[in-house]
Amino acid sequence: MSEVLIVGQGLAGTVLAWELERAGIACVIADAGHEQAASRVAAGVLNPVTGQRIVKSWRVDILLPIAREAYRAMEKELGLPLWRDVRVRRLYLDDRERTVLAEKQAKGVLGDYIGGADEEGFWIEGAGSLDLPALLIAARARWKAAGVLREERVDFAKALNEFELVIDCTGASGGPFGFVPWAFSKGQILHLDLQDRLEPDVVLNRGYWLLPMGERRAKAGATHEPARTDLAPTPDARAELAKGVSDMNLGDYTITAHEAGVRSYLADRRPAVGRHPGNPRLGVLNGLGAKGTLFAPALAQQWVRHLVEGMPFEAEVDVARYWKGQTGLRRPQ
Ligand SMILES: Cc1cc2nc3c(=O)[nH]c(=O)nc-3n(C[C@H](O)[C@H](O)[C@H](O)COP(=O)(O)OP(=O)(O)OC[C@H]3O[C@@H](n4cnc5c(N)ncnc54)[C@H](O)[C@@H]3O)c2cc1C
Repeated sequence: MSEVLIVGQGLAGTVLAWELERAGIACVIADAGHEQAASRVAAGVLNPVTGQRIVKSWRVDILLPIAREAYRAMEKELGLPLWRDVRVRRLYLDDRERTVLAEKQAKGVLGDYIGGADEEGFWIEGAGSLDLPALLIAARARWKAAGVLREERVDFAKALNEFELVIDCTGASGGPFGFVPWAFSKGQILHLDLQDRLEPDVVLNRGYWLLPMGERRAKAGATHEPARTDLAPTPDARAELAKGVSDMNLGDYTITAHEAGVRSYLADRRPAVGRHPGNPRLGVLNGLGAKGTLFAPALAQQWVRHLVEGMPFEAEVDVARYWKGQTGLRRPQ
């Protein structure tokens, strides 16, 4: 029986397979095609300070250097640019945000991530942007050439007959971890062609973000539509995002594409990693929410330490935190 099967080659599956490979652990990766992948449409922005309350992302001081090192190593080995260090120019939406920033700065809770503030907004330092579509395509080609990538939809019950360990990296698609209260949020983004050039390594943020993609091109996003799991781009979201872009006062622009994806997340906003307490031959790395770029490498490294050294998963992210000793394990799908 072979060792490890990773189901799903979105960001989670790609980074996990990469880290297992780096550690010399043989694995097979299966993906049904990226049409359903949130990673296909995600902007890949890693912003250390986010939200209306202007807070540091959970464990960002530890997770950000791990992520940056991992993506840099990937781009070196794959021989293509994937990671950009960027700054975020956050423009105040209202006076409340101005006050919140001043309070946080006075308490010193945002560390070195704030690079300065003025009347219109402030700068966030240390951010990054990962070219997720390029990573997915290059990694897929590499593993296909190596004969370890299967283009198929996996039936988890059958896969357990063939592999010692089957790790669910299926994002919002739904795998065998039925005891976990997964939540879902649809997100939509626009691709833009602007009239003026943008500063290449500055992400604008004013309620929505705008990521420069070279020359006059940019991506703008994203909506958060809880409990929606369809992938249809909608006129309402298009109008909402277009207004968000117009409010940034960038001049005229054309919308060249409009895409949607679905994030999976958990109510505590922590991801889920680890083994199924009812069937330890099933594993998971999922629930990355809106911070997959930040979370995925450190979680994949937890899997490596677990498999190589027998280390337990950290309780705060261990999927077992949702296990209440359910009997009658939900049938793997
Ligand atoms: C509009 C939008 C913008 C976003 N922007 C950002 C951002 O700027 N920064 C950030 O960090 N995050 C962002 N995110 C979140 C990010 O997309 C996710 O955190 C991350 O991509 C999730 O990756 P994943 O691998 O878990 O899931 P997915 O990318 O959805 O991948 C799951 C894969 O599993 C495959 N699959 C499913 N079931 C099976 C099966 N049974 N057999 C075989 N294969 C299967 C699917 O085909 C798919 O390829 C955004 C999300 C959206 C929707």
